Amino acid sequence: MGMFNKLFGKKKKQVEVSIEDATDVSPMIKTEAGTGDKYVDTCLKIEFQETHGGRKWYEMPECKAVVEAGNAGRTEEALRLVKALRDKYQDFWFPYYWLNVLYRKQKRYDDALKALFDGLRLSKSKYVLCAMMGSTRWETDNLLEAVKWWIRAIIIQIATKEITDDEPFLQLSYVAWQLGLKVVCLRLRRYVDAINRTKPRLIADAANRLYIATRLQGTESMKRTIALLDQEYLSRDLSISSIEDFIDSVVSGDLTAECLIQITDYQHLYDRLAEDLKKFWPSDFRVPETLWDRLSGTCPKCGKILDGPQLTALGQLRQSNSPAAAQARMTPIALRFGQGLCPNEKCSSREVIILWHLR
Ligand SMILES: [Zn+2]
Repeated sequence: MGMFNKLFGKKKKQVEVSIEDATDVSPMIKTEAGTGDKYVDTCLKIEFQETHGGRKWYEMPECKAVVEAGNAGRTEEALRLVKALRDKYQDFWFPYYWLNVLYRKQKRYDDALKALFDGLRLSKSKYVLCAMMGSTRWETDNLLEAVKWWIRAIIIQIATKEITDDEPFLQLSYVAWQLGLKVVCLRLRRYVDAINRTKPRLIADAANRLYIATRLQGTESMKRTIALLDQEYLSRDLSISSIEDFIDSVVSGDLTAECLIQITDYQHLYDRLAEDLKKFWPSDFRVPETLWDRLSGTCPKCGKILDGPQLTALGQLRQSNSPAAAQARMTPIALRFGQGLCPNEKCSSREVIILWHLR
């Protein structure tokens, strides 16, 4: 039990999680939600033996031959090789993964899914197969199923403390954003960054496709499941970047960035941001419009959201002596913000999360 107690620190209320004592290297991951919501309960019901490590595909010539043929577009040859590999190493995740890749190239989605289900039954390591299940479902536009498998891939990784596949964190972060779970989105992104600091985040087109799918296929149950995942699994102590890192990310053209600041530091952030954008971005570029589009804020405590125009107005309050500015300074939001308080009068938070996001 040690690993999970350390991981979660407290008793679960809604999700029961257990992991068999690590007498060997293959812990049993069992989770159960029991909320009565069928979708939530299905997503969070996991009973897996998970063993990381073991064979390394890149040290095995017969695996490298599959990758080579597959990447070169010699799909039939790769399929032949990978089937032989599967028959030889039935408990190895690699052949199931590649069967899935190759069948998807041929748009044989039933076969692609079957390969993964076989792998989930037979392979010692499963989290990569769960992530592939998510991406296969997403490729065929079934967001409910995709989210279910991304969540499972995340839970297994966090439970075994082997967090190496950023894809499910990234994809789910955009779903969370569209569902209004902005702080959850932020936490998921921190994992993405922690796993892979060099790879760019999801490109805008792919993100937009996810936003649209979430608007069309998103449900309350989906939102509840992601909120539960956050509550029970996503660690809250991941460090959030400083104002300097945030400005650096924005100016260097990162698609997204975020930081947690004292509300009293917001003016400093705004001034630096406006100044540096003017200095480093092309001269025909308009600062206020970009801020309206790409800046937003969330209270980490109550979830109150400040949109781009509000944050821009708050940042500009001190600059003008016009009657309009004087009036704007007297609005309830400006008054509370000016005192370093969350604009929600029922909330006592003195902090705000500032997000720089896709248009
Ligand atoms: Zn608040």
